[in-house]
Amino acid sequence: MSIKSGFFIGLLFVSGIYSALQAQITQQKSSRPNIIFIFSDDHAYQTISAYGSKLAQTPNIDRIANSGAIFKNTFITNSICGPSRACLLTGKYSHINGYKLNEKSFNINQQIFPELLQQNGYQTAWIGKMHLGAIPNGLDYCNVLPGQGSYYNPDFVNAKKDTTRYEGYVTDITTDLSVNWLNNRDKTKPFFLVVGQKATHREWFPDIQDLGMYDSVNFPLPLTFYDDYDGRLAAQKQDMTIDKTMRLKEDLKVHIDYEKDWLFKRFTPEQRKAYYDYYEGKVSKEFDERKLSGKALVEWKYQRYLKDYLATAHSLDRNIGRILDYVDKNGLAENTIIIYASDQGFYMGEHGWFDKRFMYEESLRTAFVMRYPGVIKPGTVINKFTLGIDWAPTILDIAGVKVPADIQGVSIVPLLSAQNTQPQWRKEMYYHYYEFPQPHHVYPHFGIRTEKYKLIRFYGGIDSWELFDLEKDPHELHNIYNDKKYAKLISRLKTSLQKLIIAYKDDEALKLL
Ligand code: CA
Repeated sequence: MSIKSGFFIGLLFVSGIYSALQAQITQQKSSRPNIIFIFSDDHAYQTISAYGSKLAQTPNIDRIANSGAIFKNTFITNSICGPSRACLLTGKYSHINGYKLNEKSFNINQQIFPELLQQNGYQTAWIGKMHLGAIPNGLDYCNVLPGQGSYYNPDFVNAKKDTTRYEGYVTDITTDLSVNWLNNRDKTKPFFLVVGQKATHREWFPDIQDLGMYDSVNFPLPLTFYDDYDGRLAAQKQDMTIDKTMRLKEDLKVHIDYEKDWLFKRFTPEQRKAYYDYYEGKVSKEFDERKLSGKALVEWKYQRYLKDYLATAHSLDRNIGRILDYVDKNGLAENTIIIYASDQGFYMGEHGWFDKRFMYEESLRTAFVMRYPGVIKPGTVINKFTLGIDWAPTILDIAGVKVPADIQGVSIVPLLSAQNTQPQWRKEMYYHYYEFPQPHHVYPHFGIRTEKYKLIRFYGGIDSWELFDLEKDPHELHNIYNDKKYAKLISRLKTSLQKLIIAYKDDEALKLL
């Protein structure tokens, strides 16, 4: 406190105003917005109707988008599960927060934003999928799935490492636990709650009530389904195609062993019977009868993949509706911000793939919608580039907490108000992916995406560059890196890439430029 402000407060004491001012501050503090962050897993924006999808309807995600904002250019800086969550928590790139790969323990001895919220009077909770191999500090309540968790009758682990098995379907249970926490929270404080949904992660196990809901639908093949990866070396060497990598048994549940397969170990006899009746009685029967091979088989696998994936997503959307209803019915709507986002994008058959990882659009970009009553005008569309590392500083900013200088993301609050539509903003973004070779043999790479171009450098066993003109080639099929007429452009993009690498302190990438 400065001498001047100390003197000012001293004066207030004398005049007896101070207690009134303090009451006002307390009042302002208690009116700080609550924040519910619903974070799903692998939920592709191509399957969300607010993003124009014709594959499925997502009325509840659309409710958030329609009553708030939809972000059309939100990018994840390392497109896999755990690292994306580490970026969310720290507001920093993977090379800074140290969590570059899945299946390794996140270093909890570092600054994470829920702890800063907690120190500033917020109640904080994380329920559901976390996937960090360790429980971070700064959470008043924590009840999370161990690792990837199970779709049926999952275990949850609390901060004391006590494990509880809950009967039922994971998306419902995560929502039940969230609603339960909301009911029992300290109602004198604002709160920050992460509803961490496992859906729609592989192996795409739908809720029993949703089995078969898309059986009469024939989904169109994406334009790039039969991509031959010409001119893209890393794409030629990946192991994530629907054709070769997607398993008939474990992924598509064709003639799976309901007694022996680990995927059904946690099922009750009733749940197992419902799955058996559908997948053995209908899906596997159809598979046997049709005796498919070649393209017909790949396309059948694609249809089955989408049917399972979208049925799993249906429960996710329904449960988002339950959270929205709870907020609306409990007088929280006006002062509660609701965010829905996926940890990264996902391939729905584009390039013949499922999974994520690559810096190509489908996995780089992710769904992000946000309702902020009184600040965001309903129906707002934001096309500016935002990143997963922006969520931490944004939430701190909204909560009135100073954003630490070492956070690499920036608060998107200036983009939210209708009065300020043209703030100075980034026009390019930096990406760096590491996990190799398992599980999908995607070579490590980093790169820059601008509004018009994308330049990617693959390394770690191959040495290749790719350049795409996103306006002429939005599906990223034509690598023009070796075309001499782009030499000047490449040089310019490499300079921009180097600037980003230096700004974000990625020393490993700097050596590889
Ligand atoms: Ca994920």
